[in-house]
Amino acid sequence: MFVLAIHGGAGTLKKKLMTSETKERSYNALKNALYAGYQILKMGGPSLEAVEAAVVSLEDEDFFNAGKGAVYSNQGNHELDAAIMCGKTLNAGAVSALKHVKNPISLAKKIIDDHSFIFLTGEGAEEYALLNDIPLVPNTYFSTEYRLEKFKLTQEADVVLLDHDDVQFGTVGAVALDVNGDLAAGTSTGGLTNKVFGRVGDTPIVGAGTYANNTSCAISCTGKGEFFIKHVIANTISCLLQYKGLTLKEAYDEIFNQDFFNAGGRGGLIAIDKGGNIEMPFNTDGMYRGFISSKKETFNVGIYDEKLKSFETL
Ligand code: ASP
Repeated sequence: MFVLAIHGGAGTLKKKLMTSETKERSYNALKNALYAGYQILKMGGPSLEAVEAAVVSLEDEDFFNAGKGAVYSNQGNHELDAAIMCGKTLNAGAVSALKHVKNPISLAKKIIDDHSFIFLTGEGAEEYALLNDIPLVPNTYFSTEYRLEKFKLTQEADVVLLDHDDVQFGTVGAVALDVNGDLAAGTSTGGLTNKVFGRVGDTPIVGAGTYANNTSCAISCTGKGEFFIKHVIANTISCLLQYKGLTLKEAYDEIFNQDFFNAGGRGGLIAIDKGGNIEMPFNTDGMYRGFISSKKETFNVGIYDEKLKSFETL
């Protein structure tokens, strides 16, 4: 059995502002990312590689706030964070405050392959990328007109805009279970528009925004990072499965729908447990999301609180 689930952030456009063109574009972006991971899983490949491939596809798509299309920090440039984790070994690769790495998730994957350390930040991370032939690009590569407009608005209003409050596109992530029963999770983001220079959210923090453990589940989160860090969302859900025997749904009801929500936490997450069950809860207007599994090899994608739309594989 294999399963792959992905998200493109819990900050979707309000339903009334969603044109059929934008909807089509987001569906295509999600289908392409599912396809990238599905090809690997279908051939019996590892979940870690499927997660990397799906996230790279989403990073390269300027529709989402990760890789190309990332939001602007208060210094008028882009700072990117990402993490990837292997459920079998608990090895992880995490990177933050990157300014020139084209695909942050691939740098995180390189770190996990080396497994002599877990978290690299800023200039050190970029030096490591250079030494390991991970493609670097000028910071302007990540820029888009759309994000620049939003940045100018936030600067004028002097606010830090959460993707979600401003109903923008969001962070991206993927979780997968492969035919060997190994789980993996990965997440990549540009963070928050007009965020304080140097601010790092939950995305690269193992246990907060990203977590995988073969004894429980794999999780990738999206939303205002500070809340995910405070409630250590991904690891708490995993622990509720591992130590208390809860199902995924019971576990996120316990923490995500209660303490996290009551404290003002907004966002969503995607999760797969060791039995291949998928959950994709969110408490925002919508979350770009999709999944494919060996049970029924179709692309299932959706945005709002609605039945997912099914498409034949490409
Ligand atoms: N969680 C990300 C952060 O706080 C943002 C997002 O999910 O859109 O950096």
